[in-house]
Amino acid sequence: MCGIIGYIGKRQAYPILIKGLQRLEYRGYDSAGIALLDNDLLNVYKAKGKVSDLVRFAEQQDVNGTIGIAHTRWATHGEPNQINAHPHCSQSEELAIIHNGIIENYAVLKESLIKHGYTFQSQTDTEVLVQLIDYVKKSNNVDLTKAVQLALNQVVGAYAIAVIEKGNPDVIVAARKGSPLVVGIGDGEFFLASDATPIVEYTNKVVYIGDEEIVTLKRGEDIKIKTIADVVKTPEIQRLELTLSQLEKGGYPHFMLKEIFEQPKTLSDSMRGRLNLEEKEIKLSGFIDNKEKFLNAKRIIITACGTSWHAGLIGKYAIEEFCRIPVEVEYSSEFRYRKPVIHGDDLVIAISQSGETADTLAAVELAKSHGAFIFGICNVVGSSIPRNTNSGCYTHAGPEIGVASTKAFTAQVTVLTMLALLIGKEKGTLSVERYKEIVSELGNIPQKMRSLLDQNDMIAQFAKTFTYAQNFIYLGRGYNYPVALEGALKLKEISYIHAEGYPAAEMKHGPIALISQEMPVVVIAPSAGMYEKVVSNIQEIKARKGRIISIVTEGDTVVTNLSDYYISIPDTEECLVPLLAAIPLQLMAYHIAVVKGCNVDQPRNLAKSVTVE
Ligand code: GLU
Repeated sequence: MCGIIGYIGKRQAYPILIKGLQRLEYRGYDSAGIALLDNDLLNVYKAKGKVSDLVRFAEQQDVNGTIGIAHTRWATHGEPNQINAHPHCSQSEELAIIHNGIIENYAVLKESLIKHGYTFQSQTDTEVLVQLIDYVKKSNNVDLTKAVQLALNQVVGAYAIAVIEKGNPDVIVAARKGSPLVVGIGDGEFFLASDATPIVEYTNKVVYIGDEEIVTLKRGEDIKIKTIADVVKTPEIQRLELTLSQLEKGGYPHFMLKEIFEQPKTLSDSMRGRLNLEEKEIKLSGFIDNKEKFLNAKRIIITACGTSWHAGLIGKYAIEEFCRIPVEVEYSSEFRYRKPVIHGDDLVIAISQSGETADTLAAVELAKSHGAFIFGICNVVGSSIPRNTNSGCYTHAGPEIGVASTKAFTAQVTVLTMLALLIGKEKGTLSVERYKEIVSELGNIPQKMRSLLDQNDMIAQFAKTFTYAQNFIYLGRGYNYPVALEGALKLKEISYIHAEGYPAAEMKHGPIALISQEMPVVVIAPSAGMYEKVVSNIQEIKARKGRIISIVTEGDTVVTNLSDYYISIPDTEECLVPLLAAIPLQLMAYHIAVVKGCNVDQPRNLAKSVTVE
């Protein structure tokens, strides 16, 4: 969601900033803009639409300058148009700002600024902030860093900002609270971005800016950080693990397809150093260090949003089966506001691909304030959630660029499964024999996934048949109910076809009314689990002439005979079926969306990392 990029150094800023915006495109946005400082000139260019629209316009203009900031906006306040696009300038046209987040008290601040003679061009909350900084700077006669600090003390909300000043081409001031910000340190140059993807090709030395911290990037000086409360901080320089090739499509037409195909590898990466196949053992350091918390937990609360919530639901089935600990799976946005009952002996698991999901971060804070122990499951190393939890486990799926999550989902399920098996074994609620059987089968999953991916062409063929559909139903039971939810979510996200996931047996309590010969129904019907029950549900659909697409175990003859199309998956343990069943559903959604001509990697209105509420 929204991308921020900044540069100050010896090189021309424009090409670096544009390339950076392109790298950040995956986060989701609706307009883009850039501000460049060239001696006494402050040039600001903005465009509605894509970064390519901005480039078309900016290339006709003066794009000189070795310092600049640029932005992709995901509109919250005011429609996505050129005026509301960032950067926003102060009325004096001396300051330019880019901002990710929401200034919640913008209306009060705006009213008071109007009283001081300020007028506004846009509908954004961001313009209020830049005018406030301008006002504070002038009325206190302070430098830019101090002005930003004083202004932010008046602000309620979430932000990552970067500000530059006309006539002061040697400094960028940036700050964050709730929204991500990372600084790259090069040789006599600094890069600034929402995540490390635009930085990695220039340097692997980064500093993650903390909440309520202000950073000053000045030519010829070291990076300086102080808090909004004026406490000086020592920057902690970290080394990036990311490589450039991870950010490229590698010959695939879309990042999403590349990421679907990467899953055998990402699963192995997720298990590397954790799953010992020789000894049939799992080792998770986040567990070992806090074993008692897990073993004594009276209840586990999993909090997450979207796809991560679906992974959490699979985690619930596994934890309850193997550990006999009650698990509640909560949407973070509901959990954080609905005054939930949280006890000191609850264990809270927060799941987020980006590690920046605003609602999940707030849920973590809330649970922490009640004394619960928090375990994070995130993909992006160094992101906010892992830095705010007591312990955790990275999914190590590598950068996920496609907005619709695929490999991060299966990696989350893998981590949750390992955790459930480990707690169960340690608690004694799962026999050592069963534990070892499942651990050993988990090690086979990457290879089984590989064989499944061979069916890509077949899935691409039959997907064409379903582009006519306006609606889809996805059904599954037990562990595959969350898979049905996730399959439906994938389809709606990228193909804009309305799709609903249901527990298969729930169908007769309502959705069965929708079944007709036009209605495609996707049924996850593997032999492990409640097979006969699902067969009955399929018969009920067949009797009403629904079109059945089934996911079955290799060798199935019953469900395949009832289906219009079927995809076979290798046999596996019941709790591991989701890791395999998810793949054909991802591929089906992908191919339907491609045939429909949709922008698969950047679906409309969606953002990758949801950093606003
Ligand atoms: N709230 C700001 C706006 O609507 C920033 C949105 C963003 O994060 O892109 O302009």
